[in-house]
Amino acid sequence: MNRQHFTVPTEQQLPVEMGYLLPTNALQDWADAVTRAAQLLAPAWGDGDRPALRTLTFTLYTLGHEHGQPAGDVALDAMRDALSGRKDYDGEPMELKDRIRAVLETQGHVSHTDRTFKETAVYRIYRDLTYQWEPREIMSDMGAGPSHMQHAAGRLTGLLAELDDVQAAGLPAAPTPTGPVTVKVAGKVFLISYGGGGAALQFVQCGECEQHHGGSVLVDGSNVTFTCGNGHATNDRRLTATRVRNALTPYVSPATGVQLTAGAEGEVSLGGDLRVARDDMMETANPLGGYF
Ligand SMILES: [Zn+2]
Repeated sequence: MNRQHFTVPTEQQLPVEMGYLLPTNALQDWADAVTRAAQLLAPAWGDGDRPALRTLTFTLYTLGHEHGQPAGDVALDAMRDALSGRKDYDGEPMELKDRIRAVLETQGHVSHTDRTFKETAVYRIYRDLTYQWEPREIMSDMGAGPSHMQHAAGRLTGLLAELDDVQAAGLPAAPTPTGPVTVKVAGKVFLISYGGGGAALQFVQCGECEQHHGGSVLVDGSNVTFTCGNGHATNDRRLTATRVRNALTPYVSPATGVQLTAGAEGEVSLGGDLRVARDDMMETANPLGGYF
């Protein structure tokens, strides 16, 4: 594998991972669950623990609503029981998935009628977490792959087994989550995709006036908004929060001369273009490398 096609692997740092779950308009019950999950995971946090943070957050959110208590008050035993609930033949945590989905539906995170499917950012994260890859080939006899939640439930079961109530009550506060970042771009926002012998270079443009030179990209939680020079906001599905943040790492802030990181906050300005891996690319794909 050609290394230049990958960025220096971006660590999944806990404050940044919390930030993806906490847009500025996050509801308090959800924010409480994220904060408590981060507090419980912080001592053992490692790169690749994103699914564990998300699974524990959904578990706490669900138990809090089932028991009518704040996520911070959910007992360790209740978490352990939920995480070790009934599995299906492939080891998927079916009972946990079903309980979470039921609460998300009750709390209005998803609605479907005959013609429309509406979901909140929280429900989108749940879908990603429980997604199981399946071959598109209709005659394939390959089964569905495991979801991220399956691995995470196993890891969390091990972690929580080592914790008792006294320790859990005395943990330091969770870190402060990374806040939103606005990336002001003087040039264009390019979307990069490549693979096999092909590659694509597209740019983001305003859905209203089609302007595509100059504008800004706001990452707030897992939501991304492109605002053109005339102030129109566009949500382009090809732009994703993780890839925009990872795309910042090769750039140096013109204002401070400091290299940007995925954990950038506030406002940063880029003198030229911003190149971002398109949503179909691996999250760590290098948008500067390879074909262009
Ligand atoms: Zn516009």
